[in-house]
Amino acid sequence: MGKANCPFCNSKNTFNIAYGYLGEKKDKKNYIDQHDIGKNISYRKGFNKYDFDGERLISHLPNRYCKNCNNSFQSRKVMYTIDISIINFIICINNNYYRYIFDFSDKDNPKYILKINWITIKEETLTIKERNKILVSFKKYKPNLWNGHYGLSYEYYKYYWILKCTYYNGIDYVKSGNDKVPDNWKYFVKPFKEIFDENIFDLES
Ligand SMILES: [Zn+2]
Repeated sequence: MGKANCPFCNSKNTFNIAYGYLGEKKDKKNYIDQHDIGKNISYRKGFNKYDFDGERLISHLPNRYCKNCNNSFQSRKVMYTIDISIINFIICINNNYYRYIFDFSDKDNPKYILKINWITIKEETLTIKERNKILVSFKKYKPNLWNGHYGLSYEYYKYYWILKCTYYNGIDYVKSGNDKVPDNWKYFVKPFKEIFDENIFDLES
């Protein structure tokens, strides 16, 4: 594996973390021992991971460590709903550009920002309950499995939308559509409509 950039500070000064039985790799270049970054021997054993809704997840310990900012992260493509960090939800309709930014990077203090035509209109905290409603939608309607794009490639007549979802490990996906939405769209956008009391999400193919 090449040098993975740190998703927190973008530094390339990152190292693979060697846990317990991987100790023999300690001497290898590019590995750092778990003890050297303050994780004790029971760290692996006691590692439990739960989704936002309490579902127990197969554990995936962070596999990389950044010496620049001292954060550890998981660089493989192992992503759970609870690992969603930033959502950018963009809708352009009637010549207005709406951008909803959901920032869940601080898991206890979710917030959102609404920009209309690049001007910040709102910047507010969300309750954990509201955040979870959004995460339920991601878990249930799986936008990560949607097609990359719906509708025409370059033209639109009514609207276009872009959904970008970034996980805390820096991996992300982008979905979009021109005058067309996926079949489960109206279910997916339900919590967005409720939280923001907005009809803007009512897009139809
Ligand atoms: Zn870093």
